[in-house]
Amino acid sequence: MSHVFARNSRSHPPRVSHGEGCYLFDETGKSYLDGSGGAAVSCLGHGDAHVAGAIRDQLEKVAFAHTGFFTSDPAEALADRLCTLAPGELDKVYFVSGGSEAMEAALKLARQYYLEIGEEGRSRIIARRQSYHGNTLGALATGGNAWRRAPFAPLLMETSHVAPCHAYRGQEAGETADAYRDRLVAEIEARIQALGAETVMAFVAEPVVGATLGAVPAVPGYFRAIRELCDRYGILMILDEVMCGMGRTGTLFACEQEGVSPDILCIAKGLGAGYQPIGAMMCSGHIHEAVAKGSGSFQHGHTYVGHPVACAAGLAVLERLVDDRVLNRVAPAGDRLRAALEDRFGQHPHVGDIRGRGLFLGLELVADRDTKEPLDPGLKVHAAVKAAAFDKGLICYPSGGTVDGKRGDHVLIAPPFIVSDHHIEELVDKLSAAFGAVP
Ligand code: PLP
Repeated sequence: MSHVFARNSRSHPPRVSHGEGCYLFDETGKSYLDGSGGAAVSCLGHGDAHVAGAIRDQLEKVAFAHTGFFTSDPAEALADRLCTLAPGELDKVYFVSGGSEAMEAALKLARQYYLEIGEEGRSRIIARRQSYHGNTLGALATGGNAWRRAPFAPLLMETSHVAPCHAYRGQEAGETADAYRDRLVAEIEARIQALGAETVMAFVAEPVVGATLGAVPAVPGYFRAIRELCDRYGILMILDEVMCGMGRTGTLFACEQEGVSPDILCIAKGLGAGYQPIGAMMCSGHIHEAVAKGSGSFQHGHTYVGHPVACAAGLAVLERLVDDRVLNRVAPAGDRLRAALEDRFGQHPHVGDIRGRGLFLGLELVADRDTKEPLDPGLKVHAAVKAAAFDKGLICYPSGGTVDGKRGDHVLIAPPFIVSDHHIEELVDKLSAAFGAVP
């Protein structure tokens, strides 16, 4: 009997033994192609010698020094590099241990910012349905994943949810992408006015929606229009790039492709690439300045904030992405993967949509391609696909969101950036076999 409190209480997963490149191996020697980097984490694949070396070097210098007393070389260097590479005015970085912590820090900093500048009335958050911002209570409350929220609803702060930008589902017949965008932006503006602009603190969104919708980017101009709304009403824009950031969509930050820069940006998964648990909240200089000139300290913190070994790993990952140009592989490899998925599944009777950006792609599973009717909610098809794929030696990240009250299943594909053509071929073959194995 295992004493590990596993994710699934009724079954226990195999033990991982080691990883190499795009593969993980279990204790029996079976190999698994990591077609989703776990959950869009392992952007460099497994066993990267440069990152491992940087971790070892830092461990030999100092493993931990509390940020209440010290800063460290890796934290300073990683913050410098991130700010140089980030768009807009993002020039302070607050290091945490993962995505949910980054979101908690973002929400609390937004609130504290308004206190510092004397706008105490601002505390409301506008976020989107079918979004995911993490599992801690503040992040969960902000997210719009109905299934994840339901059991904890009595514990969640109030968030005002609006429609996601999901053209496949939301754009009406005969409606242009521009008209769809304008309709959604008008809904947000109406919501701001209904809540009272002077009570709204932040608009929160994932530039490309990951876990809840399956790699869904917005229609052109959507985020630019919201940036404009936020500026007009004095609301902070918080973008959650925990999953879609750090090169996953082909640019280091997904918001670069939207032509916007948020006031606060959260990153995690690809920042440590799985080598260390690390996330970060980046903020504009003016927000930091308000705190510096006001109370003087951000009223937040965790023991492992700015952990030197985690920061050394993050810095080494960034060196691989930028200096070694691994990032440059994402767009062309993404194009090849997408073409292979379209070739194999473009006419599949149960694949309604293939979408995404870079190496962040999603397939939406439907009962009927013409009506887009979601699959029977009782079947939980995405879980069956995951199990069948795993059995065949493929890791993919299926998940279900709720579409018009019915379950919408999708499969997220997010392989390491070092993926090559033979991996793509293997991925598509195994996914096809997994689909075939699900009744
Ligand atoms: N935000 C987004 C967009 C995510 O996809 C996730 C995790 O999947 C999180 C936040 C939470 O990150 P973590 O699981 O590292 O706490």
